[in-house]
Order: sequence, then C-alpha cells, then structure tokens
Amino acid sequence: MFNKILIANRGEIAVRIIRACREMGIQTVAVFSEIDRDALHTQIADEAICIGSAKAADSYLNMSRLLSACIVTGAEAIHPGFGFLSENAKFAEMCADCNIVFIGPDSNIIDMMGNKSNARAQMIAAGVPVVPGSKQILSSVEEAKALAVEVGYPVMIKASAGGGGKGMRIAHTEATIDEAFSTAKMEAKAAFGDDSMYMEKYIEEPRHIEFQIMGDKYGNIVHLGERECSIQRRNQKVLEEAPSAAIDDELRAKMGAMAVKGAKHVGYENAGTMEFLLDKHKNFYFIEMNTRIQVEHPVTEMVTGLDLIKEQIRVAYGEKLSVTQEDVKINGHAIECRINAENTAMNFMPSPGTIEEINLPGGLGVRNDIGVYRGYTIPPTYDSMIGKLIVHAETREEAIKRMRRALGEFIVQGVHTTIDFQYAILGDEDFISGKFDTSFLTKKSF
Ligand code: ADP
Repeated sequence: MFNKILIANRGEIAVRIIRACREMGIQTVAVFSEIDRDALHTQIADEAICIGSAKAADSYLNMSRLLSACIVTGAEAIHPGFGFLSENAKFAEMCADCNIVFIGPDSNIIDMMGNKSNARAQMIAAGVPVVPGSKQILSSVEEAKALAVEVGYPVMIKASAGGGGKGMRIAHTEATIDEAFSTAKMEAKAAFGDDSMYMEKYIEEPRHIEFQIMGDKYGNIVHLGERECSIQRRNQKVLEEAPSAAIDDELRAKMGAMAVKGAKHVGYENAGTMEFLLDKHKNFYFIEMNTRIQVEHPVTEMVTGLDLIKEQIRVAYGEKLSVTQEDVKINGHAIECRINAENTAMNFMPSPGTIEEINLPGGLGVRNDIGVYRGYTIPPTYDSMIGKLIVHAETREEAIKRMRRALGEFIVQGVHTTIDFQYAILGDEDFISGKFDTSFLTKKSF
C-alpha cells in the first residue's frame, strides 16, 4: 500500500480523506494556502506544507507547486478531493509524468467525460439513453434555433465545460433563444474559460438521480445504488438522500445496469458518478458524469457500509474492488444536509467570519463531516460549504426525524449558516411525502 498521500484540497473533504488514510496506516501531507494556516485539515495531517497565497490560482490550483510539495515530502499519490483540480485532465497527466499516482481515473477518461457534450456522444455510442438534443457543439445561434424546432421547446442551452449549475439557460420560445444562448455563453466563458455550448430538451419537473460507480484496473465495475439529489437551489444540490423515494428495486437494477454499461464503454476506473434526470413517466436520461468523489458520497457509504475514499485509494494502488455487484446491499436510509456559511435572509450571501461557538450534534446514526472548529475564522476566499451533516436510520421516515433532531442540536454562533433552512426543508409536507422534483425549492419560500 502507499506509505504517504498528499491531499490537494482543503476543508471538510481534506479532513475526510486524512481520516481514511489514518485508518489505513497511510501518512498524510496537507497543503495549505497562507490564509489556511489554522484550517482543520492543516492541523490534523501528519505533515503540512504551505503552497502559496490565499488566491486559489496561487495555491490549490497551482499544479507545479502541488507536484513540488509531493516530491519534497515523498508522497507517492495525490488525492484531489472534489472541486479544484479533481477533474483536471492536465493535472492527472502531470502526476503520471512525475510518477505520482493520481487517485482518480486516467487523464484520457477525465478529458473525454469532463466535456459534457463529448460525454453525451460517448453515452449515445454506449446505448445509454441521453436527453434528446445536440450530438455535438453548437456552432451558432442559428444552428441552435433549427435544432430547437426539431427537439421541441422548451430547451436548455448548456456549457460543455459546465459545472456547479453555471452556464445553463432555458429558452421557452424562439424569441428567448438569442438571449439564453448569449448569456449562457458569457457565463461559461467567465467561469470556465470555454464557451462551447450544446443543447438538451428541457425536461419538465424531473428528479435528479445519480448512480455511484466504482471500478478497478481489471475491468470490474459496480454501481453502489442511487442518490436522490432533487433538492436544489439554482441547479446546485442542497440535500441528498440514498435511496431515492422514486426508485424501486426494478428501476434501480435497470438504471444501475445502464450506469455500469456507460462506465464500461469508456473503460472507467476509480470512483465516478453517472447523473440522470428521471421524468414523471419514469423515463431516465443521462446528463453528465463526474469523474471524482462527490460531496454527497457519504449517503452511499451509510447505506452500503463501504468507505468510498478507502476504496478509491485501494483501486488506485492496483487492488481489485472489494465487492462484486451481488455483494452490494442497500441498508436503511441516509440523508445529507450541506451546511454552508451563508445568510439565507440575504439571498444566501456568503457569511465568512469567526466561529465563536459550535455545538455539533451526535447520537446514534449521526455523522458530521465538518471542516471547522470553535475559534476558527472562515476565510471569504473559498466555497461557503463548511461541512455536511449525515444521518442514517432504518427507514426514510426515521431518517427525517433523526435529521430534524440533529439539526436542532446543531448550533453555530458568529456566522450565518443554512442550518435553519435545512430544518425547514425537513419539515415540509411535500418533502416528507417524497413526491418532489428539482423545482421543489423554487416553489417554496423557506
Ligand atoms: P452541472 O454540471 O452544472 O452540475 P448538470 O448538467 O449536472 O449541471 O445539471 C444540473 C441540474 O440542472 C440538474 O440536476 C437539473 O436540475 C438541471 N438540468 C440540467 N439539464 C436539464 C434538462 N435538460 N432539463 C431539465 N433540467 C435540467
């Protein structure tokens, strides 16, 4: 097994990875920016090395500094976490060139699946259902208009390089397509430096259902069931569950088999997620693949009993998957609430600052993946998610009650958080009934 791993990330996911490494007897190297000297991940790793100033481009996104840190500390592998360089094919390739194991798929796969338009083309070739739409990049707004007539309005104009809900716009009629096309393009250019666009039919009131995939170097690929991610704000996930109230065993087997088929088609390896939209008639369509561990991976861990970070490390080292498809059993129900330092009364404006007090919930079936502590100052520089609260129980109903109980114990003073907002969702009748779709939060006024 690896002796030492460098974690090219910060916050709760860096803490999560350090924990897995420690249980595996692997030494850890944290990297930190100047503003993160006191961050939790910096403090709990075996070694910590400063890689630059607060600006992500000078630190967490700086490939040569990360590789230098790896070389000087003698780390044999890099875990990229999510965000930052986790889906950067060039970084994965540079790691390979330096004889450092990138804990994730090969750079060619990241390259192929990271571009959403390309990924669609791959899935079409694999025989996986995709949302009706373009087969390649749209060359002009005229082409978009012609295709929209074919596909039927409303349509969605989406950035090939998109992520985090950015660079996508709906056009309901031909009159609005010019604007949708140009604003999505501008947003994509600013966020990703790439403004290539593709089109999908806009699926009315779908559920976002994704399948966790895990593959090894020997062609074995399993799915670990689905996650329900329909509770979204501005196309970004807020709360996730496993399993989904909309999926029965038959549909799980069908969608899971498609997810595995798609992943096998591209020779997938390590952890990945196949994202689908499920319409009212239970038709499902692939939308994108994430070639990394995801924020919401803990709900899958709770219901399968597998540690996905350890599994990622093992398969990256060259071990076979620890489970076969038959071994995978879904036990009970898990819910995750993302806890962000944001002011919900001020349109979810980030709320950085010092945590004066914090009381973390506990008890049976409660898990905190939190990257902060009392006295810690959340910098204004990075993502506002400070951690996740996860619960596990026998049934969905009990998991909801447990999450409400845990959120009630969760106290943070000094900064605003989304704790009360999450509490309101957990108490909503439509949420409790399990009958909701991605439009849930736009229809509510929590
Ligand atoms: P990102 O890569 O930015 O996360 P996705 O393609 O995964 O973008 O889409 C994010 C969310 O946007 C989906 O979960 C869904 O709510 C909505 N969405 C995306 N494509 C469509 C579509 N064709 N029809 C309806 N909703 C969509």
